[in-house]
Amino acid sequence: MDKSFQEKFTQIIKFEPPLYKQRHQFVKDLVEKYKPKKVADLGCADCSLLWMLKFCSCIEVLAGLDICANVMKEKMHTLSPLPVDYLQPSERSLTVTLHHGSVAHKDPCMLGFDLVTCIELIEHLEESELEKFPEVVFGFMAPSIVVISTPNSEFNPLLPRVMLYRHPDHKFEWSQAQFQSWALETARCYDYSVEFTGVGHPPTGMEKVGFCTQIGVFVRKYPQTGESVQSEKPVEAVYKTVFKAVYPSLKDEKYLQNAVISEVIFTAQIIKHRLMSKHEEDGDDPERKSKFQPSMDFFSDYLGKLVVEKNMEPFVSGNEVYIPLTTIFSFPKVNRLCGTFEKLCKLIAGKVTLSSDGSAVMFNIEHDNEEN
Ligand code: SAH
Repeated sequence: MDKSFQEKFTQIIKFEPPLYKQRHQFVKDLVEKYKPKKVADLGCADCSLLWMLKFCSCIEVLAGLDICANVMKEKMHTLSPLPVDYLQPSERSLTVTLHHGSVAHKDPCMLGFDLVTCIELIEHLEESELEKFPEVVFGFMAPSIVVISTPNSEFNPLLPRVMLYRHPDHKFEWSQAQFQSWALETARCYDYSVEFTGVGHPPTGMEKVGFCTQIGVFVRKYPQTGESVQSEKPVEAVYKTVFKAVYPSLKDEKYLQNAVISEVIFTAQIIKHRLMSKHEEDGDDPERKSKFQPSMDFFSDYLGKLVVEKNMEPFVSGNEVYIPLTTIFSFPKVNRLCGTFEKLCKLIAGKVTLSSDGSAVMFNIEHDNEEN
């Protein structure tokens, strides 16, 4: 490489966004494309990629593995659910687990994953670990997709201050040809296909140097189900679980029940409020009293339609207001949460005050009147 040309570039090469962010974005884009449910990040370090992935709504299981427990522990609290996750549980379930162990060892907790990411991991492996790595990841874990990124040593002369390797813990750094021959051989051995790409573009005129970070995306060629893998490959657990968070989810009956009760009471309160204001406006005119006049706002319009089309009219009797459950069930959010009318009845039984026949939510308005 021409020395002056090289010097010119070593001054100006600065990636924007930073390279580690581009690598993580690459994984996120892959997740958006393939929609894996279970993702494991090997060599997860400070869990920053896992943190980013927990916002991908297709993922239900996230696992991290690292040989250094301290680096994982530094920021693992960022993977815990927040108060807002409890206030508004998500419709998907999500479990995040961190394991302490080596990619050179097999552990059953690593089975059944759809996507396995190894971002800037392999160059940290000792020769003996690198030898075992393909059998553990491609032979044993055997996910549908594996992503491996590693530095491209051909780019190093363009980087300022890189003498031998980019990081003191790197055991090697490969050229494009070295990485590709290792990856192609691994793919051939374990029946995967592999495609090469990368992040961190070389400067114009130096395209031959390749990406600063080289990436191989491996796709398994044969189909496999999680269950068959587990029964075929009994191995002893060797990893230590250092963190586990189960996010609140509406798939859990306890959170679903709370959400349905709140939504039913909220919906019934709004219907009651509309009914009472109409009731007051109409005074004692018996003609007008029974009609539910839709107003401009969406809620009243919707309710108006229901009353006309389905004859599901809320009504006042003495000090009590009755809002039929069928009316409440027809509201989209309640409907989506419960699925069936029977489920709605089951979830609110004993938790919401109902009419004696159980067909309507009942409010006593004696107190409301006193306040007014
Ligand atoms: N993947 C991270 C950074 C990786 S740095 C990112 O995207 O930013 C490499 C990580 O691999 C380090 O945290 C190191 O502790 C871990 N590591 C090294 N050897 C390992 C092994 N044999 N098994 C599992 N993790 C290992």
